[in-house]
Amino acid sequence: MQFEFATASKIIFGSGSSEKIPELTAQLGNKVCLVIGGSPERARWAIDSLTTKGLSPHVVTISGEPDTDTISQATDGVRQAGCDVVVAIGGGSVLDAGKALAALLTNQSDLFEYLEIVGKGLPLTQKPAPFIAVPTTAGTGSEVTSNAVLLSPKHGMKVSMRSADMIPNIAVIDPELTLSVPPAVTATTGMDALTQLIEAFVSNRANPITDSLCREGMMRAAGSIRPAHADGTDLTAREDMALASLLSGIVLANAKLGAVHGFAAPLGGEFKAPHGAVCACLLPHVMEMNVKALKERDPHSEALHAYAEITIILTGDIEADIEDCVSWVKDLCQDLQIPGLKEMGVKKEDFAGLVEKTANTSSMKGNPVKLHKEELIKILEMAF
Ligand code: NAD
Repeated sequence: MQFEFATASKIIFGSGSSEKIPELTAQLGNKVCLVIGGSPERARWAIDSLTTKGLSPHVVTISGEPDTDTISQATDGVRQAGCDVVVAIGGGSVLDAGKALAALLTNQSDLFEYLEIVGKGLPLTQKPAPFIAVPTTAGTGSEVTSNAVLLSPKHGMKVSMRSADMIPNIAVIDPELTLSVPPAVTATTGMDALTQLIEAFVSNRANPITDSLCREGMMRAAGSIRPAHADGTDLTAREDMALASLLSGIVLANAKLGAVHGFAAPLGGEFKAPHGAVCACLLPHVMEMNVKALKERDPHSEALHAYAEITIILTGDIEADIEDCVSWVKDLCQDLQIPGLKEMGVKKEDFAGLVEKTANTSSMKGNPVKLHKEELIKILEMAF
């Protein structure tokens, strides 16, 4: 058994923990770049509290999932402002933007020099500027991951800038910040976390540390995703989902993912659907296909045992089999009103191109079994 494990140097979890941000920021730098989402009023408290601490921030606003143009433009501003610490407060989109900006503050080349797949994928030569990540959605776990996902419009792909040094220095997870997340976003982001936990648990890079975190995260998400969706003010459910999301980020950074996220790279690049919705609508079908392929080609695989364990954790029934588990996930998607690929604008003619692009993604390498082209097409048909 051989593995490595890395995560943020400090994780601060708990309702009210965001009050510590000004003090933590002051310990790391003098000129702060504050990255926030498209509704600045939601981050007013952060601007005010940093200003009161004497850290008047250079504010970068990110609307929607970040693309390479937005990041390149923001990089110029952040470098000119002389920022030496970055704080990002928002959903995964904002955290990824902040993560990329922290890296580009100290690594002076063009963004495409560092981007995987569509760029040169060169390693960073300098450590990124100190970075504090504060999630306001419960889904991506980006507060503890080593990559920033960016859309490259000219390639129609979502790709990553990635380095072990890009794991945020401090992750502050305050579940109270997620109380205002509307039901549709609670559903899609929550399903992203659950998908990450499931894919990391069956991944061919899983290790005993990631496995134990996956079990805890899947249990929390399975029990709390419906309550958090039904009543956004349910703080206990929000805490569980914030913890599940955090754990999903730790495991994805250490164990890789699988075919759902392999597909999410081109689908997210070509169609305007939230990342979590793309993951959710593919999840039950990838589970079904993986189990079928494993039974046929690798019947003694540890991943089949992992799927059996997932079944018990999700359904809460020790007698349940994988078909019951797939049905459980399908029912959950239905209850959370997750749309199918067709409703996201995908057409059957797109399938072949999507499958081709999926093959090169880094997530695909973590899938527990190599799926054939026909099997990948079948997954898209089932999720249509
Ligand atoms: P998001 O950040 O795009 O946010 C979704 C919506 O929720 C936005 O409209 C946002 O303004 C709103 N929102 C955020 N916080 C809110 C709050 N507290 N109250 C009300 N509204 C709120 O969605 P996301 O799912 O968190 O992030 C998606 C992005 O993260 C995608 O680009 C995806 O590819 C990426 N991602 C990155 C990683 C990683 O490890 N870096 C992992 C998974 C996903």
